[in-house]
Amino acid sequence: MRPVAIARVVGVLAFAAVVNFGCKTKEPAATGAAAKPANPNLAKSWRFEQGGWIFVHLQGSPTDVGFQHGSLLAPEIADAFETVKLTATHSTKKPWEFFREASHSMLWPKMDAEYQAEIRGIVDGLASKGVRMDVDDVVALNAFEELPDYYVPWYNDQHKIPGPKITSPGNCSAFVATGSYTRDGRIVIAHNNWTSYLTGERWRIVFDLVPQRGHRILMDGFPGVITSDDDFGVNDAGLMVTETTITQFYGWDPNGKPEFERSRKALQYADSIDEYVRIMRDGNNGGYANDWLLGDRKTGEIAQFEQGLKHDRLWRTKDGVFVGSNFASDPQVLAEDTHFDSRDRSSSPNARRDRWEALMKDNKGKIDVEAAKTFMADHWDAFDRKAGPSERSLCGHTDVSPRGVKEWEWEPFYPGGAVQGKAMDSQMAGAMQFVARLGHPCGEDFRAAPFLKAHPEFAWQASKLIDMKAGPWTQFQSDQRAAQ
Ligand SMILES: [Zn+2]
Repeated sequence: MRPVAIARVVGVLAFAAVVNFGCKTKEPAATGAAAKPANPNLAKSWRFEQGGWIFVHLQGSPTDVGFQHGSLLAPEIADAFETVKLTATHSTKKPWEFFREASHSMLWPKMDAEYQAEIRGIVDGLASKGVRMDVDDVVALNAFEELPDYYVPWYNDQHKIPGPKITSPGNCSAFVATGSYTRDGRIVIAHNNWTSYLTGERWRIVFDLVPQRGHRILMDGFPGVITSDDDFGVNDAGLMVTETTITQFYGWDPNGKPEFERSRKALQYADSIDEYVRIMRDGNNGGYANDWLLGDRKTGEIAQFEQGLKHDRLWRTKDGVFVGSNFASDPQVLAEDTHFDSRDRSSSPNARRDRWEALMKDNKGKIDVEAAKTFMADHWDAFDRKAGPSERSLCGHTDVSPRGVKEWEWEPFYPGGAVQGKAMDSQMAGAMQFVARLGHPCGEDFRAAPFLKAHPEFAWQASKLIDMKAGPWTQFQSDQRAAQ
């Protein structure tokens, strides 16, 4: 391992040096042309902040989009990278080099040239701001949902390596509704992102992406990652997309394509539900297995695509609703792709499913974006039949739960839950808009210092766990230039 690692470091340094030299030659001579932008790659991009979110507009070739991403978000990517390294190495007990090697040997060779160019662009954009990360680091960062929790358990089993128990997580509460369920008969879609506060606090980017090929995209996202990853977005073909992960999924195909690429490609190139499903199926590696909730504003049709590795299933309707809270539904997916107990109504996924189904029934015909905001902030515990935030409420607060979530290996009082929320309807999708709220969608703040004092068992997070303050519901739109 050692000589290989050294050789790669040398290679990276040489590459970075070439990049710096290349940039210097493009800059105007010191004697004139001062009005030219310092770097022409950045000419069509911009950044502003609103409601705690960072909006970035990225436009152009894959190389340009990547460079803009790396350059505009360099401090946030450096910070997110350190946080992901801390989390991934803590939970798996594997060194960061393990994830770099998996990215280098397994993921990178399967990627399309377009996304390889975008990743290289991110590396160059970071280098232009003095942040030294190489391609393997950026690929491993992009795979932070799929390598630690999906690849590692499979790898340990394959190699008969005893390791910590790791199960795939449950992330998010979401729904998509249409027809007689919504106020105007058209689609409403909403999602709140459940994750550790450690990473969730940093999930505050709005990407307004105009790629050279394919559709333009408006999506939320994580610094340095080319897909939304939590996921929530819309493209200019009218496809509205979100998901919740499949709890206790198990499986990996080392010959597949990374999930972060497939999900980005599907949002960029699909103009129909069928096309979206086709792209997600192509090279399915089992990573970050999800129940995808989809809507097509052109037809009013919605769908749920449950993608296991051995099995998958697609449900679709022009009059109905699909909800997600990290439970699989298809009997074959449940039996052969997961270890999940669908009968235990006390678990977080099932208690939230029961709450979702009651809310959808009670609000039939009245669902709109305003209603979606209240659902995202809901604190009802459907199992104990009482109000109050916990791991069972749609707006999750596991940090106040003495139960934790055993299905995800979240210990009692684990600092995780709903970290932000988004919603849109068909009309907003047509205008490439959505509303988003940072922090707990109910508006409650999380304070790191008192939490760590009360729960010293999470001291390992202290270097990166920060306050998570809730912002206001804020509307964003593609091509937006500044805070409004
Ligand atoms: Zn809440």
